[in-house]
Amino acid sequence: MKIVEGTSVDGPGLRTSIYLAGCNHRCPGCHNPSTWPFDAGIEMTVEEIMEKVLYNRFNVTLTGGDPLYHAEALLPLIDAIKANGLNIWCYTGFTIEELLGKEDKAINTLLDAVDVLVDGPFIESQRDISLLFRGSTNQRLIDLKATLHSGQIILYQQ
Ligand code: SF4
Repeated sequence: MKIVEGTSVDGPGLRTSIYLAGCNHRCPGCHNPSTWPFDAGIEMTVEEIMEKVLYNRFNVTLTGGDPLYHAEALLPLIDAIKANGLNIWCYTGFTIEELLGKEDKAINTLLDAVDVLVDGPFIESQRDISLLFRGSTNQRLIDLKATLHSGQIILYQQ
């Protein structure tokens, strides 16, 4: 959908946020329903995206829409981001339990590379504008490396 360079609302520090088109969660109160159609936005190559990422060398956030609908297509981009030593935050409307339960190779490979997963749908009745980097209290900032290593949910600590 778009790439925002130098944002401070999608994770710590200044980051490059990449918004992917496509989301079927359709959360009531979604902040960005224009991202729901899977044919929205424009097609970009990994090279074109990396040119923007490397211009500032900010860490990267994948958001949307829901990037987890595009796990396989994202793998080359994730490889390129990690090869340049940048960390990755990723937003998804799925919970980590749902994602791991899919037993999908591409999703598991993506999760192995992501540093922090902000998981779960936006739930309007649990909206809280004081929350850090998320919209509703059900959503979690998950330290994925520690979680996948330990087998239990470990939350990101600032
Ligand atoms: S998962 Fe995110 S983008 Fe998708 S409907 Fe929910 S709030 Fe909107």
